[in-house]
Amino acid sequence: MIREKTALVTGSTSGIGLAIARAFAAQGANVVINGLGAPEDVEDERSRIEHEFGVAAHYANADMSKPADIIDMIATAERELGSVDILVNNAGVQHVAPIEDFPPEKWDAIISINLSAAFHAIRAVAPGMKKRGWGRIINTASAHAVVASPFKSAYVAAKHGVAGLTKTAALEFARSRITVNAIAPGYVWTPLVERQIPGTMEARGMTREQVIHDVLLEAQPTKEFVTSEQVAALAVFLATDDAASITGAILSMDGGWTAH
Ligand code: NAD
Repeated sequence: MIREKTALVTGSTSGIGLAIARAFAAQGANVVINGLGAPEDVEDERSRIEHEFGVAAHYANADMSKPADIIDMIATAERELGSVDILVNNAGVQHVAPIEDFPPEKWDAIISINLSAAFHAIRAVAPGMKKRGWGRIINTASAHAVVASPFKSAYVAAKHGVAGLTKTAALEFARSRITVNAIAPGYVWTPLVERQIPGTMEARGMTREQVIHDVLLEAQPTKEFVTSEQVAALAVFLATDDAASITGAILSMDGGWTAH
């Protein structure tokens, strides 16, 4: 039962995370949203969730590159909403450049936001989930948790790391009724994908249309973008009792990309 549980979704002011937060709220869960954005836009999204679904929606402005912020966000959510039953580690950033030109500070930021943040959040929610004897941890990985693409060294390394963290946490929590899984989407049309188009154009000497068709959708046999709502529906399923035996899985949703 998801109703009246609390779902905390990192990086949920935009794209996939926002769709996941809305999908949990639609099931009657209270939600904590998190992420960057103009305060008035964030407040719009937060209050829309409360009004549309009749649940409590809180906003945490934690910077996911800062462990202390993450620990404080979880403690605040547990205090204000009673628990964090469902944790979705979704915040992510991207940078596209050849390794020789890849700025080391971008490498550090991607590893901290896309990988280390999930470790810190899991570490902080685990004691409460164990005490209550129930928990769901869902990590937004990527097809890049399974295969690589050139010019995305930090992202691919971080997402492969998320896959390893997912499996390890699943084993450690297997007897505590806490499942840990990763969703590995292919290309989903979100601001994150739109923003990497200029870098890819430059790295590969391509036009915008060539990047969309010859790089992004080239990888995806269906030739269609995955939707945020499809990812959110899988996240909700993973939180149901029917999914209690799915743990340690890296679940591809990539239009056949990794079947190559
Ligand atoms: P997005 O840019 O729309 O959303 C990213 C979210 O992360 C935003 O809410 C942003 O504010 C937040 N964020 C970024 N840096 C942050 C920080 N330091 N602290 C807190 N929040 C921060 O991107 P998206 O496409 O929705 O991506 C969400 C997740 O899905 C990411 O982990 C991404 O790697 C993954 N993913 C995306 C795709 C895709 O094609 N879009 C495919 C596979 C996986």
